[in-house]
Amino acid sequence: MSVLCEGNKPGTLVQQTVTNGSPCNYHESATPGLPFMLLYKMTRSQKSLGELGLIEQIRRDFSAGSKAVTLGIGDDCAILRPPAGCEVLVTTDFTLEDRHFRRDLHPAESVGHRCLARGLSDLAAMGATPLAAFLSLALPGTTLANSPGRDWIARFFSGLRALGDMHRVPLAGGDTSESPGGRRGLILADIVLVGAAPKGEALRRSGGAAGDALYVTGQLGGAATELSAILQRQRRILSVATTEGHPHLFPEPRLDVGESLLRRKLATACIDVSDGLSTDLAHLCRASGVCAEIEQAALPIHPLARKLGAAAALQAALHGGEDYELLFSAPATIQIPSSLAGVRITRIGSLKNRRSGRPLMTMLAPDGSRVELKPGGWEHFSGISSGISSQIGSGTARGRKKRSH
Ligand code: ADP
Ligand code: MG
Repeated sequence: MSVLCEGNKPGTLVQQTVTNGSPCNYHESATPGLPFMLLYKMTRSQKSLGELGLIEQIRRDFSAGSKAVTLGIGDDCAILRPPAGCEVLVTTDFTLEDRHFRRDLHPAESVGHRCLARGLSDLAAMGATPLAAFLSLALPGTTLANSPGRDWIARFFSGLRALGDMHRVPLAGGDTSESPGGRRGLILADIVLVGAAPKGEALRRSGGAAGDALYVTGQLGGAATELSAILQRQRRILSVATTEGHPHLFPEPRLDVGESLLRRKLATACIDVSDGLSTDLAHLCRASGVCAEIEQAALPIHPLARKLGAAAALQAALHGGEDYELLFSAPATIQIPSSLAGVRITRIGSLKNRRSGRPLMTMLAPDGSRVELKPGGWEHFSGISSGISSQIGSGTARGRKKRSH
């Protein structure tokens, strides 16, 4: 079991047996300053850091060589060299305080991990191999001037780097800026991921055809369930014993599965489940010009979600979001292995022809009845959602003094 440990040698993931490995076993305290178990330690400066000092520290800590990065942090641009015969894929994702995380609840390592995981998951969905990451970071003016602020930054980068090293993704550049609002300003991180895929072979949302079977990796509903538990507790989490079993705090982007699907030419269409199965399946259906039917009984529901009871577990699995699993279609005639790259693959339904009067998505219940499945995941600006980010947003309004955005 992978364990976060203080003082590990960079580049190694310590394997330990954790006796109390319960997924919700958080070490928490309202008292800041307790040691957080870190996989990597960014140098913790005692002095106030300016923009240049922070960039220099990032450059030192992220200077590991990579064949794809000809020139990394330090010049006006990075220079990348994609492998011969490949196309370059680019994706960008915001991580915004009070929208995607709560500084008073999420461990900073988790914020860094999730920031990178979101971009990596997009590359995974297209079957791409990551080449480099770029991070634009806006921090409140006081962050680099005080010790808790510098500590937060060091822990943020620890989380980001641990995941980056696991998937061999170098940080090749970015931008650093002061966010407006003084000490009440927000932390904003925008990550750009650049990846490569053989020319013309990247997986897309649009290749699904009627008759294809639908599959999902891993399990669904865990991330939303863990987030709800965190928001209900309203207490700061200082550490977790292991990154495993924390689908919200430490999701695992399915890069190896995506690459395997591409290499073995198994998938006709693919998308990552970031906004919720119902919402992401609707994207795949629209892009492919098909309808879909999923079988309720086949859904692989995360054990954390199962504890909620059948009805709530189903809602979390269908609409929860941020599980970062892959949803893909493949011809029904192709034998899809029960696991790919060590990740379980479950057949959850099929694609059908679009017909007038037929709903875009239906769900077959265990009793044989058929209900329409409407997208119920996260959508920005939609006002109503059961999606994951809306929970963080509304939690913020309830739980803290509202800040001006
Ligand atoms: P410029 O003013 O030309 O944009 P900067 O001073 O912003 O240059 O950045 C100097 C170097 O540091 C660049 O190579 C840039 O990519 C890198 N850099 C700046 N901020 C970050 C960051 N948050 N993460 C990674 N690299 C960064
Ligand atoms: Mg700049």
